[in-house]
Amino acid sequence: MFEAIGNEYLVPFDGAFSVGEAATKPPEDAPGKKKNKEQLEDMIDEMRDLQRMLFAHDKYSLLLVFQAMDAAGKDGTIRAVMSGVNPAGVQVFSFKVPTPEELDHDFLWRTTVRLPERGRIGIFNRSYYEEVLVVRVNPKFLGYQKLPYDIDLENIWEERFKSIRDHEKHLARNGMVVLKFWLNVSKEEQRQRFLDRIEEPEKNWKFSSSDVEVRSRWDDYMHAYEEVLQATSRLWAPWYAIPADSKPYMRAQVAEIIVKTMRSLGLAYPTVDEKARAELLEMKEVLEG
Ligand code: ATP
Ligand code: MG
Repeated sequence: MFEAIGNEYLVPFDGAFSVGEAATKPPEDAPGKKKNKEQLEDMIDEMRDLQRMLFAHDKYSLLLVFQAMDAAGKDGTIRAVMSGVNPAGVQVFSFKVPTPEELDHDFLWRTTVRLPERGRIGIFNRSYYEEVLVVRVNPKFLGYQKLPYDIDLENIWEERFKSIRDHEKHLARNGMVVLKFWLNVSKEEQRQRFLDRIEEPEKNWKFSSSDVEVRSRWDDYMHAYEEVLQATSRLWAPWYAIPADSKPYMRAQVAEIIVKTMRSLGLAYPTVDEKARAELLEMKEVLEG
């Protein structure tokens, strides 16, 4: 099975993760904006080649899950990281409030039907993790989920963690490489970005009053994130908690983790055996007339 690459932002697998200790800013000695951008470019170049190989190899698929508070930069990171790869090999899905059709299924259904095929990269902008984040902070959402049993708020989150772990382990056993990124923005940086969205007319569309409501539950969200990352970061489906207060740094870190993971898979172009090679040479003769 796939094994996570080490990295300073890798969330430990033993449940020791603490939101309070997770950095929202780059380290003091981190390279500056310009260097981050160069690094991102290099990573994107390499990702382009690795993606081609992933596609030709056709055994693994890559699932990138992005979760974050509003304005942490999910969309921009997805755009930056994917800017270089062949659009035919990558699909992005955003998950919002579930539709009636989605609510007619179990909570893993809507994402499961959108998982990437072998050889492809799938990106989830939000995911089944909303089911233990926004739904946990607002348990009233459970009321719409048509659950057949009495809801036991004491145990339901632990049960869902177990469902998610089992699900991801199953995916890993079958060749899916699941990387999960929590873009960890500070409350103060979010405030600044919301203010920018209000002040700059061309950013107004990005802001909604519900963003402020969610922000008012900040501590509840942080508590939910902490338990989620503790319960679901595993060797075969790691979480990375990436400082998000500097966008160039965050993007470079995310790209580097993706590239290093892809490198670690030992991807190779399929080789052609002697017989097939001989057939190709025959074709060549035919084509050359
Ligand atoms: P943007 O960056 O454009 O604001 P977004 O991902 O925040 O993108 P919105 O339409 O603003 O998109 O928000 C989607 C909302 O749907 C979020 O508040 C999210 O928590 C909520 N949501 C996602 N999945 C679920 C779920 N399973 N149950 C309830 N709410 C959900
Ligand atoms: Mg939003």
